[in-house]
Amino acid sequence: MKFERSWIDINLSYFEDNLTELKKHFAPKNNFMQIVKADAYGHGAFQIAQKAIENGAISLGVANAQEGALLRFQGIKIPILILSPSFENEIDTIFKNNLTPSVSTLEFARLLNEKGGCKIHLNIDTGMGRSGFQYRDAKKNITKIKKMKNLEIEGIFSHFSSAENDSKFTEIQIEKFQKILEFCTPKFVHIANSSGVVNSAISQTNLVRLGLLSFGIYADISQKNKLRLKQIMTFKSHISQIKTAEIGDTIGYNQTFVASQKMKFAILPVGYADGYDFMLSNSGKVLYKNTICDILGKISMDMIAFDISHFRDAKVGDEVTLLGDENKQIRADNLVKTFGGSSYELLSQIGRRAKRYFFENGKVIDSSPILRRDFSPNIFSENKLENIIETAIEQRLQSGEIANLVSKNFLQQLFFEKDKNIHYKKKFKHKITLSENSKYTDFYETKTELHFSKKLQNNYFYVACAKDEHDLSKYFLRNDVEYRWILDENFENSFEVVSVKIDNLELLTETKNVDGCIEVKCSHENLQKFVGKEVDFSILTKTYYPKKSHQLAVFINEMTHGIEITLESNLQNVEVIPIFSGKQKFPNIKKYNNKIVVTKNEWILPTSGVIFVY
Ligand SMILES: *Cc1c(COP(=O)(O)O)cnc(C)c1O
Repeated sequence: MKFERSWIDINLSYFEDNLTELKKHFAPKNNFMQIVKADAYGHGAFQIAQKAIENGAISLGVANAQEGALLRFQGIKIPILILSPSFENEIDTIFKNNLTPSVSTLEFARLLNEKGGCKIHLNIDTGMGRSGFQYRDAKKNITKIKKMKNLEIEGIFSHFSSAENDSKFTEIQIEKFQKILEFCTPKFVHIANSSGVVNSAISQTNLVRLGLLSFGIYADISQKNKLRLKQIMTFKSHISQIKTAEIGDTIGYNQTFVASQKMKFAILPVGYADGYDFMLSNSGKVLYKNTICDILGKISMDMIAFDISHFRDAKVGDEVTLLGDENKQIRADNLVKTFGGSSYELLSQIGRRAKRYFFENGKVIDSSPILRRDFSPNIFSENKLENIIETAIEQRLQSGEIANLVSKNFLQQLFFEKDKNIHYKKKFKHKITLSENSKYTDFYETKTELHFSKKLQNNYFYVACAKDEHDLSKYFLRNDVEYRWILDENFENSFEVVSVKIDNLELLTETKNVDGCIEVKCSHENLQKFVGKEVDFSILTKTYYPKKSHQLAVFINEMTHGIEITLESNLQNVEVIPIFSGKQKFPNIKKYNNKIVVTKNEWILPTSGVIFVY
């Protein structure tokens, strides 16, 4: 961990402990949705989501489509519910990323239905007075939505307004919600936020939505008797200057603090722009050398001052804790009490400049984000590039701006727009079938079916079979060659192109012997009209493969998006050795009786592949 001006530690082990603690209060049959909106209240949505999933979360809750899209991009697969109402222009993102919108108006339901439809959760306002169908109009509207053919009502929910401290009002909300449920009970029924889990029970629900309490913050002191929670966020900084004040000296803007005696104070490089609330002026506390110290004067944008009069050995660079669990006075829920503020606000604001370090069992397992200040052009060598791509994708992306850059444009700009010659394959499927042949008993008859979609470059292309490794590598460099194979030296005429199709158009094949290699030109007079368009390629070949080689390799030499490699045979004990570059080095491998399938949904970078050893 390098020296930071300020940083945040997120203790994922504490997070797990909090989940365990909360689960004790779940009503029977209740699963949980982890709320990760606003970057999981400033804790890092991706890492929190991952940990929550490991601990049984069946879905995630976000504030808007953008937050959901980012999680999808980072590889999160479980259902994601958008808690707030969405706008029409976000529907595209919702569909593309398989997000579940909540529906609070008939107009929005209609739009979703018209544009193709999806699963939805109905939001019912039972007293929160925020989003959702007004309780009294709910039935009428639900009736209309039920008729919309393209919408699947997968869930219905409401939201408590004061589950933490007003059981009467909560009870009224529950009763209203139950009335609606008599009329509509889809697969998921949910109303409780984390305080609702602890303070109320409703038998019809099967899902709870965990936010604040899972991060270890109490929403009300009464909860301390029922639960032991640990604040998972620690916010720290280093002293950047030490000075003394004489009687009458003032500290900070507008002279709100006046020294009444000689004192010593320290400056921290953290202010309200870092999310440390301005309202903590003259009232906040920090923990220094295990002692609580007072904030002096107003919080500035980038600095604060605190009292170190009692320390003889204070020095620049010393660590100071602004938020944490080590001392209850610097817990978020206690700090905000000094000014009547909200823990939700404090947490979700913290760390606009701070890097987060994620701890598990005392060890750093991840960090984020890569701020732009971390990039410096002169270390940007080719070699570093791959590292940066990998890390950038792995790490939580702080802002919509960076997320967008990486997710949408990065691969395209790097590999596509800057170099129009590079085209990538999508939906790549490579199926190999080995079978016995009565004539050539030393060989497997090998059928290869290749499917992918790609932009067609020309009105012809080649399938080639090289006589040796040297020629094979030449074929790899030719971008008019769509499939290559290597001839078995002991076996002439062992390569045959059975059929080649473009979007179901059967192409003409013309076989030529070029320097001992076989080149099959595939073309058709009608192919010209497909040039420049995304088309489906289907190439079927038949070859013979020597049994004695005991291994069969499939290599991917171009960038592809998504891949499926299948080997079908009667062989016993086939071992699969995947060699993948890029972020996910270990793709999913499924074994069936006589079939092995390697699947991958992500970008596959050259040179990747699979070796089947038999
Ligand atoms: C934020 C939010 C939650 C989580 O609430 P906590 O009080 O943090 O547990 C649950 N449901 C909805 C609809 C929310 O917006």
